[in-house]
Amino acid sequence: MADLKVRGPQPSAGVRRMKEYHPPLGDRSGLRLDFNENTFACSPRVLEAFGKISRGDLTRYPEREPVEARVAAHLGLKPQQLLLTNGVDEAIHVLCQTYLDAGTEILLPVPTYTMYEVYASGTPARVIAVPTEDRFRFPLRALLNAITPATRLIAIANPNSPTGHAASRDDLLRLIDAAPHAAVLIDEAYFHFYGETVLDLIGGAPNVIVARTFSKAYGLAGLRLGVLAASEDQMRWLRRAISPYSVNSVALACLTAALDDEDYLRWYVGEVLASRPLFETALRTLGVPYWPSRANFVLVDIGPKHREFVQAMRARDVLVRDRSADPGCDGCVRITLGTREQTQQGIAALEESLAEIGWSR
Ligand code: PMP
Repeated sequence: MADLKVRGPQPSAGVRRMKEYHPPLGDRSGLRLDFNENTFACSPRVLEAFGKISRGDLTRYPEREPVEARVAAHLGLKPQQLLLTNGVDEAIHVLCQTYLDAGTEILLPVPTYTMYEVYASGTPARVIAVPTEDRFRFPLRALLNAITPATRLIAIANPNSPTGHAASRDDLLRLIDAAPHAAVLIDEAYFHFYGETVLDLIGGAPNVIVARTFSKAYGLAGLRLGVLAASEDQMRWLRRAISPYSVNSVALACLTAALDDEDYLRWYVGEVLASRPLFETALRTLGVPYWPSRANFVLVDIGPKHREFVQAMRARDVLVRDRSADPGCDGCVRITLGTREQTQQGIAALEESLAEIGWSR
């Protein structure tokens, strides 16, 4: 990144080196199929909990421990194995701060979630990007070959974004076994739409770290709530690195209500899972190439007209995300799956947009 010409004090070398990232938020009125959030709403019980917060409650510094104990019990972990974070993004930042210094390496299969590289670029570590294999398959062999004594962090989104591909448990176990000297983050942000987890490895494998978020299935992206699970030993370092009050009291007060409403979570996840075959069938009928997904989004290959396509969708009040700048994703657009009704609306806009831009295979 080129140095910015600014007057006044210069930032650290780490910040100068950092990749800039500004999510394309802007005007997001319309159907939000662009950021893989919950597209509908959070549980009504969350709003009830929100309404019960008193003026006095807000005068106190947030106390995360009691809520951490509750989330740990929900996930079958000890409280000492769990840390709440200000979204998984903060968790990634904390992991980079905790493990990456000069002479170390972070290993990433690419394409993957942008923030791993953004936060790693602010440390002196080397970022080793390992391209995914044929049709974005998990590059196990290449990752194993890239492990060195300097590897200190490996970040795997499972399922991956923007591809929707999931690595098998066996592949993850092989990677975890092959790098006992590295923290291996398995980012399960999309767990609820996939159903498989490696959370059971916490307590057994000392190098495994699992992340979960409340931004997707639970619909709490605005509250910023993430979870890190790790061995008690590793957690001591992570607690040292994190800001003690980064999860605010409002988020803490609402989290338990979200956890308690399992019916609501089941309903929303059910809608997304029903949307997935609906959407993939529509893509096949239209002849649009796509990657089968294990998450709440689908990556489609629009080709050279990807920009016009995104614009045509926007003109129909449907927001989708151009991912064509990601490695190996030239011409690709990522489309979030919502409720069945929303997905039908997305499909209608897709058909019209492809016709408008004169798309053909
Ligand atoms: N990990 C992955 C793989 C994601 O796709 C996202 C969401 N864009 C996140 C983490 C960030 O989650 P949060 O909202 O909890 O920061």
